[in-house]
Amino acid sequence: MSVSYSQVTDWVSAFAVAVAENKEYLTELDSAIGDADHGINMNRGMQAVVGKLGASTADDQTDIGALLKTVGMTLVSTVGGAGGPLYGTLFLQMGASAAGKPELSPQDWADALAAGVAGVQKRGKAERGDKTMLDALMPAVDKLQDALASGASFDDAVQASATAAQEGMTATIPLVAHKGRASYLGERSANHQDPGATSSWLLLRAAADTFSGNGAD
Ligand code: ADP
Ligand code: MG
Repeated sequence: MSVSYSQVTDWVSAFAVAVAENKEYLTELDSAIGDADHGINMNRGMQAVVGKLGASTADDQTDIGALLKTVGMTLVSTVGGAGGPLYGTLFLQMGASAAGKPELSPQDWADALAAGVAGVQKRGKAERGDKTMLDALMPAVDKLQDALASGASFDDAVQASATAAQEGMTATIPLVAHKGRASYLGERSANHQDPGATSSWLLLRAAADTFSGNGAD
């Protein structure tokens, strides 16, 4: 049971599709508590990533770390605002964790995701409960680690992780934002779902869809 190079590519592609399909929704969420560009930003970045991966001529597709770093660099260089660089950091740190690996064990995957999320935390200086993407990402990492530690199958662990991300996303609704643009609204940021937590749920759902069932082997 492991995640192959091509499955990581499939995960990134599935996220790009989910972002494209939810572009208006993400932008609508950002129009309530931000500047109405999260869907546009993320879609621009992920379309650039898809173009980059499609144009890759490397015949030696064995380094998942290098692949993830390319995704991160592309996001950092094509997306403005807070979200793009934070997602860029997520992928760059995942790439550092997976450096040189041709495939990832379930624990490698969990470790890479944990490293990526720690990178987002370090860069954005947000805590859980600040109404950001971390409110979806941190419970997802915790759930993934706990599930694997308690002997769950990889399928079940990635599904549980996506569910935890979804719950974390929904739990941002009543919160008052303490980081990012939404924090400028103070109390008025409450009663709206955070756009970044929503795109992060799409990211984890894409992983569950790609790696479970007939995905990872
Ligand atoms: P911008 O806020 O610059 O317009 P986006 O709209 O693309 O950028 O992204 C907004 C999302 O970024 C927010 O919904 C939130 O989830 C996330 N975000 C903003 N600031 C931070 C931070 N300091 N740490 C983590 N996530 C953050
Ligand atoms: Mg915005």
